[in-house]
Amino acid sequence: MSLNESVQEELEVLEAILMDDITISYDEKNRPEIVKTTIFPSTADEVDKQYVCVTLEVNLPETYPDCEPSVQLKNPRGLDESTINNIQKAIKDKCMEFLGQPVIYELIELIRESLTESNLPTCQCAVCLYGFSEGDIFTKTTCFHYFHSYCLANHLVITKRLFQEEQDKLPAWQKSVKEFQASCPVCRESISCDVEELKSALPPKDLESAQHFQVTSDLKKLQEDMRQLFIYQKNKGGIIDIEAEENKLLLITAGDGDSVEVS
Ligand SMILES: [Zn+2]
Ligand SMILES: [Zn+2]
Repeated sequence: MSLNESVQEELEVLEAILMDDITISYDEKNRPEIVKTTIFPSTADEVDKQYVCVTLEVNLPETYPDCEPSVQLKNPRGLDESTINNIQKAIKDKCMEFLGQPVIYELIELIRESLTESNLPTCQCAVCLYGFSEGDIFTKTTCFHYFHSYCLANHLVITKRLFQEEQDKLPAWQKSVKEFQASCPVCRESISCDVEELKSALPPKDLESAQHFQVTSDLKKLQEDMRQLFIYQKNKGGIIDIEAEENKLLLITAGDGDSVEVS
């Protein structure tokens, strides 16, 4: 069997197993070039229990499998940097071990195993910036971002209130006919959540045990330095006073050269 055939066979097997979950791009000579698939932990098809995922992209050099492919992990969700680094290292080792043989299926399995092991978000909640401790109640959005339910509830309540306040300020003809649409605080994708249910969650443990905020002498000093800097910049004309700008007159020059003032 020629090398090309063994690659072809590998790709056929992958397509048969993964079906629509794998994309293979070919170059102009119809040579397979890039293999891409998004990998989830094994949770016996319980999709709502998959808390992490990552997209594997394998670039096949013409000399593959005699030369190792170049492998990239893209769009990691729920995984922190050290987990990604560990997977990357394991990928490198696997590629060396399988030099001369097809390796893509091995890589998929390796990544799936790692994801299954770390199937708990190891990232931070983008609202409170604390991690997820055991016992914390958290929510996974459809875009695979993670928040403590308590934090997401607060965020949604506040964004809804701000939306309403903005609407109330507008004259009737400018009011949007659109209803408030909740969106993910990280990627802005539309999300639908039961805010009442989220609200019933307890605050995250780390947030509860965090020290209460206190104004220290260092903070006071910083405040004073910033105040001095502000005055300095204002005197130099470096601060734009939005209110003053809005009240400025707009000059429209009429065709005959006369200026007409509009306030
Ligand atoms: Zn949080
Ligand atoms: Zn998102």
